[in-house]
Amino acid sequence: MTDLLSYVSVDECLSNYLISKVKKMSLIVQKFGGTSVADVEKIRAAARKAIRAQQAGHRVVMVVSAMGKNTDGLLDLASQVSDTPPAREMDMLLSTGEQVSVALVAMAIHELGSKAISLTGGQIGMKTDNSFSKARIQSISTERIERLLDDGNIVVAAGFQGIDDDLNITTLGRGGSDTTAVALAAVLGADACEIYTDVDGVYTTDPRLLPEARRVDVISYDEMLELASLGAGVMHNRSIEFAKKFGVPIHVRSSFSDTEGTMIVAEPESRMQPVSGAAMTASEARVTVLGVPDVPGKSKQIFAAIANRKIAVDMVVQNIGKEGRADISFTVPRSELKDTLDAVDSVLDQVGAHRVTHDDEVSKVSVVGLNMASQTNVAAKMFRALADAGVNIQMITTSEIKISTLVARADASTALRAVHQAFGLHSRPEDAKTWDQIKAERGGRADVDVLVSRLRDDALEALTLTGISVTENQARITIHGVPDQSGIAAEMFEIIGDAGIFVDMIVQGNDGEGTATSISFTVDATTIDQGVEVARQIQEKHSMGDVQSCGQIAKVTVSGIGLRSHTHVATKLFDQLAAAEINVEMINTSELQVNAVIQSQHLETATNRLREAFSDSLR
Ligand code: ADP
Ligand code: ASP
Ligand code: MG
Repeated sequence: MTDLLSYVSVDECLSNYLISKVKKMSLIVQKFGGTSVADVEKIRAAARKAIRAQQAGHRVVMVVSAMGKNTDGLLDLASQVSDTPPAREMDMLLSTGEQVSVALVAMAIHELGSKAISLTGGQIGMKTDNSFSKARIQSISTERIERLLDDGNIVVAAGFQGIDDDLNITTLGRGGSDTTAVALAAVLGADACEIYTDVDGVYTTDPRLLPEARRVDVISYDEMLELASLGAGVMHNRSIEFAKKFGVPIHVRSSFSDTEGTMIVAEPESRMQPVSGAAMTASEARVTVLGVPDVPGKSKQIFAAIANRKIAVDMVVQNIGKEGRADISFTVPRSELKDTLDAVDSVLDQVGAHRVTHDDEVSKVSVVGLNMASQTNVAAKMFRALADAGVNIQMITTSEIKISTLVARADASTALRAVHQAFGLHSRPEDAKTWDQIKAERGGRADVDVLVSRLRDDALEALTLTGISVTENQARITIHGVPDQSGIAAEMFEIIGDAGIFVDMIVQGNDGEGTATSISFTVDATTIDQGVEVARQIQEKHSMGDVQSCGQIAKVTVSGIGLRSHTHVATKLFDQLAAAEINVEMINTSELQVNAVIQSQHLETATNRLREAFSDSLR
């Protein structure tokens, strides 16, 4: 048991990383997903891969998922016993899938004549918090793994599971074995982290949905993090948080072929193309809280109740109110709708809102690209593609590297195909770089990300913030009464783009019945008159409601990693601003930033409060 007590601190992680680099002891983490160990033959093939790597001189840690669809099977069993199984028992049940596969893989390695030992999450000292079904990693004990590797074993670790302080078994969330693998690679200072799966790399979108999708050679951490969180199920989003914090290069490749695969690293494939991938979350749900009193602090109460249940809210849009009341819409994964509605109901009276509506027949279609921030007309191009495909957009939110739209589920595949086509994602960008070219350009530069020094030693997966910044001299323009027909957003942002106006944030709200209501966007304050002029033209043409504008606004940006999945970030921001009676006029969240638009006069108070409130995560 002693090794269970020797958890690594971050300083140790960093020094492990550096020592391993200096000593050139090569260590490889190989992760095998469910389909890669789905039957006995595949288990043997995985075992042979690991043995080959060991014979080539590497120390090998395997991370293995449950066989095939075993986890789904266990979930189904539970549902036959209980509609509301206790979360602790659910994790106890789901963790068994991985326990079966690690034992079988270790046996297969023995049978092939090499040494191997299987370990559960508890046995590798994977300590997590106690949020069953979505536990976060706090620390990992490396001593036992190191000792077993030194003895010539291939270590076969169970993915997806850990233990909390009371030795309860926890799981990291569906797809969480990727996170186990990358976290182990980080703390062990691995030279490579190979993710073996049933596709031969990361594609511009899910190749099962769009056969024309293109495999990319390289994708940046930021893009992959965002895509994963927006529905690209090839990687668990939280694994990319680890990779970025620790600078772990991830190699995604096929279990069944020798194709080169995709490298997930700091650099993007192209410095020019505005969009590098598209993703769809098919099963999304929209919730609208109608008639929320338009005073600071009300939205905070709603989002705090949801965040307390660790539900990640996306696409938050507040319609600027009528008669002192506002409507707030947001999306959550459909699987979390029931919990979300319970959370909202629990505070509805306290908030003083009128009622709640929801729609669980919606999907989210998003595009992501690191270069989008510096290019105009990207949003217009996406909206045009959707309009031309006859898809009505129910909600819009944008942030620095992504644009998300909410559409009827029946339109989702058409929408995904249309945007993939519009951005030419099927063809390789002219300036695309291969991993070898990127490595050559890196030269001798160290690839350890400095962010690692900011991590607290008791919480490897804690929130990591990189800064709080402000953008001053912004203006907001809002058009009310947007009709329920496709093509309005496209037309509007095309005209604005043609006028040379750079639009930053865009949000399109919803009236709670699935119909668009208002579109708000921000521009540089110097272009407000032009912006209003264009908005008026469109308003008149389509007989829409008022155009409102405000030339005295500013944007406060909290930057970091994993901001959306750390559900308390947006809540804390709302909390701080509400306490100072500052109204949040627009908000957007991504994994990399939370942006809040407020009146300029409050800027200093707001930033001071946020710096203070987030000082812990900022160090
Ligand atoms: P594993 O069991 O190996 O973890 P997953 O099913 O979790 O495998 O992930 C692989 C699947 O991810 C692929 O079969 C593919 O359908 C899906 N996928 C979704 N988005 C993408 C993408 N952008 N690139 C590649 N695969 C994707
Ligand atoms: N077996 C778990 C799941 O199916 C974890 C994983 O495969 O990554 O979600
Ligand atoms: Mg997976």
